[in-house]
Amino acid sequence: MSKKIVVLGAGTGGTIVANNLRRHLPAEWEITVIDRDDNHIYQPGLLFVPFGLQKSKTLTRSRKKYILPGIDFVIDEITNINPEKREVKSKNHTFTYDFLVIATGCKIAPEENDGLMDAWGKNAFSFYTIESAELLRQQLKEFKGGKLVMNIAELPFKCPVAPIEFVFMADWFCRKKGIREKTEIELVTPLAGAFTKPKASAVFTESAKSKNIKISTSFELSSVNGKERYIESVKGDRIKYDTLVIVPTTIGDEVISKSGIDDSIGYVPTHQNTLKALKHDRVYVIGDATNVPTSKAGSVAHYEADVVVFNIMAEIHGVKPEEIYDGHSTCFIVYSKGTSSLIDFNYRIEPLPGKFPVPKLGPFTLLHETKMNWYGKLGFEWLYWNVLLAGRHLGAPPTLVMAGKHVG
Ligand SMILES: Cc1cc2nc3c(=O)[nH]c(=O)nc-3n(C[C@H](O)[C@H](O)[C@H](O)COP(=O)(O)OP(=O)(O)OC[C@H]3O[C@@H](n4cnc5c(N)ncnc54)[C@H](O)[C@@H]3O)c2cc1C
Repeated sequence: MSKKIVVLGAGTGGTIVANNLRRHLPAEWEITVIDRDDNHIYQPGLLFVPFGLQKSKTLTRSRKKYILPGIDFVIDEITNINPEKREVKSKNHTFTYDFLVIATGCKIAPEENDGLMDAWGKNAFSFYTIESAELLRQQLKEFKGGKLVMNIAELPFKCPVAPIEFVFMADWFCRKKGIREKTEIELVTPLAGAFTKPKASAVFTESAKSKNIKISTSFELSSVNGKERYIESVKGDRIKYDTLVIVPTTIGDEVISKSGIDDSIGYVPTHQNTLKALKHDRVYVIGDATNVPTSKAGSVAHYEADVVVFNIMAEIHGVKPEEIYDGHSTCFIVYSKGTSSLIDFNYRIEPLPGKFPVPKLGPFTLLHETKMNWYGKLGFEWLYWNVLLAGRHLGAPPTLVMAGKHVG
């Protein structure tokens, strides 16, 4: 009898889940991971590239190096997923499986936004890919003041705190350059507040106010006019800019929609607690490729990996998958070079103040700007490459822990 697990995508979620499965399953289980290239990018580092605090070439490493021996790593474009036949096709191969893990992530699609491509690289920029972050770095290097607008085109998008971090860092950057007085900074978002969760949103809004950053909410982007330098909402409101930084429309990979297993915007309908595909047996989904209502974040993919491994192993042993995952997400929010905040929440519990990960001791402080949190953000990169990707964890459960949090 064949015993095959195929993992689609070798980014954060795919790498962690494949390594974790390899640690737990005997060698008779073949594990195959497929990705289109061998370039694993540490995406949180992209935030620092425009400000000259991180070099983009240091963010990319070989995927193969982080995939454990005993796992087949195939570099190829995945072209079709057929859950009925339990078969995956790539350009050059056909794979069959007993269990499939979809970890194909999501990506920005600037071509989906009216007018954006005409302004792209001229006065409209992003930092969600290496190429766009590099272009923005050049732009900010030459920036002499004016109106800097950070816009989120549409929901959902990857890493919901990144645009807030960007405007906070832009404030720090312009102060350092001595051009803050000549610069207006504005965050324009389709959300009702600065962030998806109201309490954290109120804290971030206060911080933005103290930094003289304007936040315009409930702005649904209709088009970008690069010639006259404004963005227009579906209601017809216009916001002028000199330099636009945008998170364009974000979509799941085409292979999901082309295979007919999507929710109409390229994500796989997924049970929010078991992480099993809602419509397909023996298929699990992890990370940005799911449609579960939590952040599209690396921490989420990491917590989810534990649950996916648990449930695949449960199914192998003839036991039903358990409803374990609670939407747990943990994110640093950089406030400036040298300070950061931190939030920890799940589907139901909003970010709360307190200490993390050790109650009372921390060393990190939740919902508060500290120097120690900044060191945590910097140290996380090392942890990512050396501990987390290997499918190891630090003994903490994948679900939210209330100890250390201040309620009420
Ligand atoms: C600017 C920025 C800042 C961020 N900051 C943070 C942060 O501070 N904290 C945090 O937790 N998260 C952060 N994130 C988000 C985090 O990086 C992602 O949520 C995480 O990488 C998701 O993991 P994933 O495995 O779902 O997707 P990915 O890591 O993107 O991996 C998906 C993989 O699938 C492959 N793939 C897709 N389709 C195909 C196909 N058809 N054929 C072959 N291969 C395919 C891709 O090549 C890719 O390698 C940030 C992201 C950005 C862009």
